Amino acid sequence: MDTKIIKLEIENLAEGCFHEAAEVLRNGGLVAFPTETVYGLGANGLDETAAAKIYQAKGRPSDNPLIIHIAKTQDMESLAQEIPREAYQLAEVFWPGPLTMILRKNEFVPYQTTGGLDTVAIRLPANQIARGLIEAAGVFVAAPSANLSGKPSPTLAQHVICDLDGKVDMIIDGGHATLGLESTIVDLSGGEPMILRPGCITKAMLENVIGKIEYDPVVLQGAPSLELAPKAPGMKYRHYAPEGKLTIYEGDIQKVVDAINQKAKEKLDNKNRVGVIATDETEALYRYGTVKTIGSRKDEASIAAGLYAVLREFDELHAEYIYTESFADNSLGQAIMNRLLKAAGYRVVKL
Ligand code: AMP
Ligand code: MG
Repeated sequence: MDTKIIKLEIENLAEGCFHEAAEVLRNGGLVAFPTETVYGLGANGLDETAAAKIYQAKGRPSDNPLIIHIAKTQDMESLAQEIPREAYQLAEVFWPGPLTMILRKNEFVPYQTTGGLDTVAIRLPANQIARGLIEAAGVFVAAPSANLSGKPSPTLAQHVICDLDGKVDMIIDGGHATLGLESTIVDLSGGEPMILRPGCITKAMLENVIGKIEYDPVVLQGAPSLELAPKAPGMKYRHYAPEGKLTIYEGDIQKVVDAINQKAKEKLDNKNRVGVIATDETEALYRYGTVKTIGSRKDEASIAAGLYAVLREFDELHAEYIYTESFADNSLGQAIMNRLLKAAGYRVVKL
């Protein structure tokens, strides 16, 4: 299939600029587009055949449900039933934005889209290209991250092109996905509200609005186990992973730098290709391998925004071993560490 690539600038969106992409979605095709979290691969979420194409293009397991993107809060009533008060409270504060809510689905949402579940994941994105496209299409847009299953999520159109060129109808290049991490997922489908996936909307931010909320125990547990299955099916799969073997070093930062330098030298002497993930503060301290900074420790958001792009850059360099510092496990750091641990297959060296 020929993939059409179109470039749009958020600051400069012309009248009718979504016309062609909207037509593709209405006709059951696939369009990749930027959101404020990561790039999404969209299809009509109420059309089973269209939704099935997403799974096919990504190589996504069919039990991993899709998030449906809407253009206005009220649209959740067209997809869900028994919507609790908390959903409206959270929507009021965090939509449009990087928050996904799990609600009980109604009969219009096909099981193809929900991976067979009786619940549906819904988000109203803030990115103006995403919203403009959903509005113009006039359909609800199921859109998981626009990467091949298992690869790091795409934060640039180039990443999408690399994974999906020839497999989708259209890719909208709208520059950087600014936040760089997938949305926070909150389950409001019954029982106590629960965070199924940490993201840029933190636990404290949610608690400010609806009171006490817990993490799905699997999120805190780290490595997956047979006893505890995550409530978000997608969280059980190998994710975000670079091709090389990624290891996280944790502890006093000087000790971390020394240990990574030593390990990187050992692998280089062995003729391996080595990558080091540094921060602005430590970049100059690393002496071996290809060193890339993901952002500044003074600005956690920059680290979230840089993580996936760096993992992909090391793939391009065919790094066989990648070493990274770890990050504080609170607020946004919780989301960063959640993704980093998965990418590392939970390989952590504690110093
Ligand atoms: P992605 O859009 O690629 O970030 O993937 C969507 C994520 O949302 C996956 O981790 C899914 O497991 C999760 N998800 C989607 N729908 C549901 C649902 N109904 N219940 C629980 N998790 C869901
Ligand atoms: Mg994904």
